[in-house]
Amino acid sequence: FGALQSFDPEIAGVLLSELGRIRGGLQLIASENISSPAVLTALGSVLSNKYAEGYPGRRYYGGCSEVDKAEQIAIDRAKELFGADHANVQAHSGASANQAVYGAFMQPGDTLLAMSLPMGGHLTHGSKVSFSGKWFNAVGYGVDRETEDIDYDQVEALAREHRPKVICAGGSAIPRLIDFARFRAIADEVGAILWVDAAHFIGLVAGRAIPSPVPYADVVTFTTHKVLRGPRSGALVCKAEHAAALDKAIFPMMQGGPQMHTIAAKAVNFKECATPEYAQYAKDVIANSQQLAQSLKDLGIRPTTGGTDTHLALLDLQGIGVTGKDAEARSDAAGIVLNKNAIPFDPQKPNIASGIRVGTPSVTTQGMGVEEMKTIARLIHTAVTKGDGDPASAVSQEVRAEVTDLVTRFPAYPR
Ligand code: PLP
Repeated sequence: FGALQSFDPEIAGVLLSELGRIRGGLQLIASENISSPAVLTALGSVLSNKYAEGYPGRRYYGGCSEVDKAEQIAIDRAKELFGADHANVQAHSGASANQAVYGAFMQPGDTLLAMSLPMGGHLTHGSKVSFSGKWFNAVGYGVDRETEDIDYDQVEALAREHRPKVICAGGSAIPRLIDFARFRAIADEVGAILWVDAAHFIGLVAGRAIPSPVPYADVVTFTTHKVLRGPRSGALVCKAEHAAALDKAIFPMMQGGPQMHTIAAKAVNFKECATPEYAQYAKDVIANSQQLAQSLKDLGIRPTTGGTDTHLALLDLQGIGVTGKDAEARSDAAGIVLNKNAIPFDPQKPNIASGIRVGTPSVTTQGMGVEEMKTIARLIHTAVTKGDGDPASAVSQEVRAEVTDLVTRFPAYPR
């Protein structure tokens, strides 16, 4: 760090102030986490220098003896961790891993059946502003109005009607467990590939805290930086019969040189995920989000679907007459970082939204437990219902003082 500080104090300053920001507030973004110094060390390493197009033992560059070791270790650990036939650890991100599914199984114009974005899906699942929506005929399914959980009967009906090449299960704002067996049965009936985008919950699968999609899916894509707690990146695991097609789709169809430093960091993370400590962490993440959802509910803020089985809760703010946008700004002003989020059948535009999404991966990494979740729920409620978005206001200051107390007792990157 000294070299950076003396050469480029401006960027060194940003690194330090970001560390201060992480340490100074409550990080409740459901898709973020606080990765370990071991992961960060691999990420900021000399492996970043190496070009290694191809796969271990089959490279288009010389000098790959050492990076081959790192990638093979990452592949072996991913296969072991998820009980998968095959793993590809080269995707630069979750979006890239998803693109590889399209590359392997679909031609432009083919039909995809996936959860629509406003219902909890992801941009890369056929939204009109993404390649997936421009190049493919994307049909969207949603949630049931009553239960607010995935409408499996609708998935089945749409699959029968549209005969998709690929069916995607998974999304960015799904608080409940997904019925993979039902998805498998639907895919089998119409002869579709079943793809599970497990970006959000793969860490809970790695920690054996929720059921795994791996036995059911043809391919499972994921990000490595959410509950999993690895570097910012992506990966996929699949059945042996799809290994060659997916490997070719990642390289050379879509990407050039793999990021060997990130692959090494993924290997470190997979090793972390195989420990008993991580398994306990995954269980704690869920216990914490369930407590947070329950305590918010007790305070009059309704969790959609009535609660959560995972690391995140989606809160409907219509009952308290606050928009998602205002709730995000008011929380932020008080040191609580969360995001506005559309809720199912949201009457508001996405940039306003009627909901917020809260997740517990980061605060659980910091060691907070269910007692702290009760406090956090109270702080969110106060900030959202009484705050004004001004960091200097009395309410913001009052909440921030309690936030400071919490993050002092449970520090991120303890000194
Ligand atoms: N898939 C899902 C379900 C996601 O939630 C996300 C990101 O939040 C992605 C894919 C994309 O991941 P990335 O941002 O790494 O491209």
